[in-house]
Amino acid sequence: MAEIVLEGITKRYPDGAVAVRDVDLTVADGEFVILVGPSGCGKSTTLNMIAGLEDITEGTLRIDGQVVNDKAPKDRDIAMVFQSYALYPHMTVRDNMGFALRLAKTDKAVVREKVEEAARILDLTDHLDRKPANLSGGQRQRVAMGRAIVRDPKAFLMDEPLSNLDAKLRVQMRTQISRLQQRLGTTTVYVTHDQTEAMTLGDRVVVMRGGVVQQVGTPQHLYDQ
Ligand code: ADP
Ligand code: ADP
Repeated sequence: MAEIVLEGITKRYPDGAVAVRDVDLTVADGEFVILVGPSGCGKSTTLNMIAGLEDITEGTLRIDGQVVNDKAPKDRDIAMVFQSYALYPHMTVRDNMGFALRLAKTDKAVVREKVEEAARILDLTDHLDRKPANLSGGQRQRVAMGRAIVRDPKAFLMDEPLSNLDAKLRVQMRTQISRLQQRLGTTTVYVTHDQTEAMTLGDRVVVMRGGVVQQVGTPQHLYDQ
């Protein structure tokens, strides 16, 4: 669990483009925050700075009170779920989900236990020995989430995790993500350009436009008027 605090965060890309301008945002411990807004408004850049995948040009990023601007992604104890799920095609679901733990030389029995627990949460128990090619899009996306869950991270960052799925699967996955959040209560920052996802998933919605935060509020507050 983690509190994530952005103070005056600005991102200027090397070509001079200012993608994010002076963003202040506090994501409380256990909160599920949605970043929403049109393509190009700075959502992914913001998420990537929290993850440590992009340098912060100006401002301070704190996780649990500690300044992490210069910390490597692996030292931030945060798990990112990407829109392109990038699973290893030659590995089974089990091996995909356990990969990071095996890399960290985690005890085999512990890896097995964590993978099986994540599979139970994500309804993947019957698919553990399959390869990604033999799964549906929704199942593949759940494996990508499983890979994040097994690491027990302080926070999840999700960048349009459902955008490659068809409409029906998106609805199913929304339910799955809500269940996951209720069950794990892990601090989550979730990027989408989809209003329905913004309305149904988050505790709080942050509307971005042109690199700045335009509005912040609960889904009810922002949309039920
Ligand atoms: P999104 O789906 O978030 O709108 P884009 O299609 O805009 O993403 O961008 C896809 C990738 O291209 C991202 O990794 C982003 O960092 C990179 N990118 C976007 N705009 C530029 C740009 N003007 N110059 C260089 N890279 C860019
Ligand atoms: P979003 O995720 O909301 O679609 P991005 O954070 O991907 O927005 O992009 C915000 C702005 O920064 C856009 O104008 C985009 O073109 C620009 N941008 C993104 N990545 C790069 C990059 N690597 N180099 C230069 N400009 C970029």
